[in-house]
Amino acid sequence: MVVLWLNEVGKDDVALVGGKGANLGELIRNEIPVPNGFIVDSRTFMEFLEATGIKYQIMDLLRIDVEDTNKLNEVSKKIRELIESSEMPEKIEEEIRKAYKKLCEEEGEEVFVAVRSSATAEDLPDASFAGQQETFLNVKGEDDVVENVKKCWSSLYTPRAIYYRVQKGFRHEDVSIAVVVQKMVNSEKSGVMFTSHPVTGEKLCIIEAVFGLGEAIVSGMVTPDTYTYDRVNRKLVDLKIGEKKKMLTRKDGKTVEVELGEKSFERVLSDEEIEQLVNFGEIIEEHYGHPQDVEWAIEKGKIYILQSRAVTTIREKKEEEAALEGGEIILKGLAASPGVGIGKVKVIMSEAEINKVEEGDILVTTMTTPDMVPAMKRAAAIVTDEGGMTCHAAIVSRELGVPAVVGTKEATKVLKDGMIVTVDGEKGVIYKGEVKEEKKVEVTPVASAPIITATEVKVNISIPDAAPRAAATGADGVGLFRIEHMVLGFEKHPMKYIKDGEMDKYIDMLYREMRKVVQAFYPKMVWIRTLDAPTDEFRAMEGGEDEPIEANPMLGFRGIRRDLIEHEHFRAEIRAIKKLVEEGYTNVGIMLPLVTHPDEVRRAKEIILEEGLSLSKIDFGVMVETPAAALVIEDIVKEGITFISFGTNDLTQYTLAVDRNNENVAYLYDEEHPAVFKLIERVIKICKEHGVKTSICGQAGSYPKFVEKLVEMGIDSVSANPDAVQLIKETVARTERRIMLERLRD
Ligand code: PEP
Ligand code: MG
Repeated sequence: MVVLWLNEVGKDDVALVGGKGANLGELIRNEIPVPNGFIVDSRTFMEFLEATGIKYQIMDLLRIDVEDTNKLNEVSKKIRELIESSEMPEKIEEEIRKAYKKLCEEEGEEVFVAVRSSATAEDLPDASFAGQQETFLNVKGEDDVVENVKKCWSSLYTPRAIYYRVQKGFRHEDVSIAVVVQKMVNSEKSGVMFTSHPVTGEKLCIIEAVFGLGEAIVSGMVTPDTYTYDRVNRKLVDLKIGEKKKMLTRKDGKTVEVELGEKSFERVLSDEEIEQLVNFGEIIEEHYGHPQDVEWAIEKGKIYILQSRAVTTIREKKEEEAALEGGEIILKGLAASPGVGIGKVKVIMSEAEINKVEEGDILVTTMTTPDMVPAMKRAAAIVTDEGGMTCHAAIVSRELGVPAVVGTKEATKVLKDGMIVTVDGEKGVIYKGEVKEEKKVEVTPVASAPIITATEVKVNISIPDAAPRAAATGADGVGLFRIEHMVLGFEKHPMKYIKDGEMDKYIDMLYREMRKVVQAFYPKMVWIRTLDAPTDEFRAMEGGEDEPIEANPMLGFRGIRRDLIEHEHFRAEIRAIKKLVEEGYTNVGIMLPLVTHPDEVRRAKEIILEEGLSLSKIDFGVMVETPAAALVIEDIVKEGITFISFGTNDLTQYTLAVDRNNENVAYLYDEEHPAVFKLIERVIKICKEHGVKTSICGQAGSYPKFVEKLVEMGIDSVSANPDAVQLIKETVARTERRIMLERLRD
């Protein structure tokens, strides 16, 4: 059989029809209205390869070193041409034509279809190849459908897909591809719906809606309406009308923009439509047993569900976050990422062992590295020997929403493989066995309106793939995009790419990763910090052998001083940012790390201008994280900056002469030391006089008491860790109200 209809398949058919096809089939089985369509299954592609005899030719061509980018591109091109120019066996072509004809008959007209690829691996139905193959929209007519099915097949061999499979250890011959051919809905209204709150998991359904096609939301072209529906009390509890200046619609097979004029501020959804959507959302959530992120559309008054995915941003359950009592404490450390994780201990001593960590295990190690991120995602909790609140394990766990306790000193000794433990990331303790909370207080969720504050509350990011989760916190932008963890996750040291003549490859990698963040937050501002690479951390990378051995890397070759000497990698970052700006992203800013002198700002600006990036279009600022910068801020401001951000992690260590990573002097490390506050106060005052915005992105920006003081001093924004955004929003709102009240009373 060549073709399967969507209503004939379900979750057990993933290997045959791909994740996308199986998911749509499941929805139909649950009476969810999905646009009509069929799937050219994965066996058909295999049959095509066999019948045309090109399989062995392809496998032969694939015997290359995928690191050789030119060769990879050349081979990919050859294979794709081979597939697209090979004649489709008559029987297969006939069936596809017949299916399309039937689809048109059922719809009463010749319809536009989307032709989407869905790669599959026979023995690994769960393998994720999402987003690697191509999709073709606005396809109409039998000939075009057949041709685009072939194009989807050939997209199994894009350079990216080939590279990915080799990296992940998949054999090319084990991977096939299914193609979903589905009627395109030319919607008058569309959008997305979270069936439950995407961060807290409360039964609040959040719907975003625009007129026309949903791509307008994804691209950030318009601000959608947002409806919040309380599923417990069955009523709409919040409604925000967005400014929808334009809509996208389909005309003669092309997507066109239409100005909406007065209609821009009209409400998109009626109460009845919201209720219908919520009902469908609830059926889907119940079926999958997990809150869903659903794409929907309305055409000629009829609702269609286009896609549904599990929401991955929800925090651990409320009751698990509550205090655990009565358990035997076996280890203590710093409470680095909130939540509670219970599971089996897996001690790993290096990246090579990450496969030991299975879904739901407790990852225990000396200190995590970027190569361990896949295992960190699978872990129920993370425990490390070393580290403070700003170490790799702490920052990444908070972004991934995985509970973590760091700096326990002896986790890898005390905890043994296979032990069951309970990790409380809120209190920084590890209990023996499974410890459940004793008394559970039933709390009825209360629908709360989003908190709006005059002082913006932003979020810190370091893992681009976690950006959508951070954006779901409702933060007002990204106050620090720390690119070091991302770059440490690349295969080679930045200077190695450059020495190997692969600057363009490096720029492209930077661009792709940065784009994920800028896109997730668009149009909210993202301040990208240029590389702050300490020699000790970058030495472990391939090509990092030449990093100088420094007695004190914290005072060494890092930050902007390094960027200006190894200016090639700095230029690569600027070129990646320039690409984003040229693509139309208006929400990009550049921030320089570890500035100590105005000359550094001047030279960095010169390089940026040499690279052809105009600073008039973007935010340009510096970190104030050295006493020097705080003391000469007047001169730095004169170099022409739009903002500064306090890096209190470094500002504290340099002001107090306390190494932030040294446990022996950790008791002296105090961000609230009066000397640190004096420097901060000075900088805010001078920046205000010069119209330069002030912000904070150090760890102290996640501490309510500290933030209260900054708001009193008149800071313009605060950037917190993802898990602290909500708390900091509340703190800021309360402080602002208190200040206003005090002024009124005066
Ligand atoms: C800081 O120093 O406060 C800061 C935010 O930078 P990092 O922690 O990356 O040094
Ligand atoms: Mg710093």
